[in-house]
Amino acid sequence: RQEQYRALRDQPAVTRDGVRIGLNLNAGLVIDLPHVEEAGADGIGLFRTELQFMVAERLPSTAEQLALYRTVLDAVPGKSVTFRTLDIGGDKVLPYMRAMEEENPALGWRAIRIGLDRPGLLRAQVRALLKAGGGREMKIMFPMVATVDEFARAKAIVQREIGHLERHGHELPSDVKLGVMVEVPSLLFQIDEMAREADFLSVGSNDLMQFLFAADRENPQMADRFDPLHPACLRALRCVAEAGARANIPVTLCGELGGKPLEAMALLAIGYRSLSMSPASVGPVKAMLLSLDLEALVEAASGWLDDRAAGETLRPQFAAFAKKH
Ligand code: PEP
Ligand code: MG
Repeated sequence: RQEQYRALRDQPAVTRDGVRIGLNLNAGLVIDLPHVEEAGADGIGLFRTELQFMVAERLPSTAEQLALYRTVLDAVPGKSVTFRTLDIGGDKVLPYMRAMEEENPALGWRAIRIGLDRPGLLRAQVRALLKAGGGREMKIMFPMVATVDEFARAKAIVQREIGHLERHGHELPSDVKLGVMVEVPSLLFQIDEMAREADFLSVGSNDLMQFLFAADRENPQMADRFDPLHPACLRALRCVAEAGARANIPVTLCGELGGKPLEAMALLAIGYRSLSMSPASVGPVKAMLLSLDLEALVEAASGWLDDRAAGETLRPQFAAFAKKH
């Protein structure tokens, strides 16, 4: 099987009816970088910057952050990298930062919330990212954004750092694209406003599912309870893809969902054309899409999501389609 997938490496990720699908990798450490070439991925769709902070014994200096970001960009020349700013708190604790006692850490002081409340940390990180990206295109996205206003404030921090670097004669990135992770359900109800503000959207399906179904992503008892192929979830995901299309900005998905072939197929059916996943998932997902007649799938699935009688997972329908085609 692995051999088979390796053989697919140099084949373009195009469906049988000719639709190009972006396949990117999730990464976070230097050891992940060779996988981009090995898997034949388009780039890095999610670089989890918090991993450097989690494996360190103390807060990494700005110079250390800058060095890592440069290493990442140099490792995949000509390919796109999307850096996510620090996503700490919740399930991601830093050994050297005193954790606050919180009743519900997943719903607590984490990610962009810390970034906005303690802007020193976010500013230093943004500065390191912008310096690392001198002369190249930079893509930066923010985790756990719950309102358009939070994104606007994060954006203002980046703009301030751009101004600072400019004044000090640093080479700036040739372009800076700022995106938002869609992983808090409140964004679904302001998604058009969000899509107007952001340069791109990236769905964090792990957290989005957790909050949508109120089911702890770490709790094994919850693991199979709610199916992401349920219309409730697929409609939520579709509304993000549609908003991106309306606003004419790229939309991608970087949660675990995109790495499973049947789930990835469902995502293509509802409008996704780009996914980011773990290295081992690229082969299976590529094999799926190479044999997929996307137009036939879109046509078949168009009624499934809105069938008022449904109310149940659409897994059997998608599985039957996959089997037949
Ligand atoms: C997600 O929430 O789906 C995601 C990609 O981010 P993380 O798993 O790091 O929270
Ligand atoms: Mg997340």
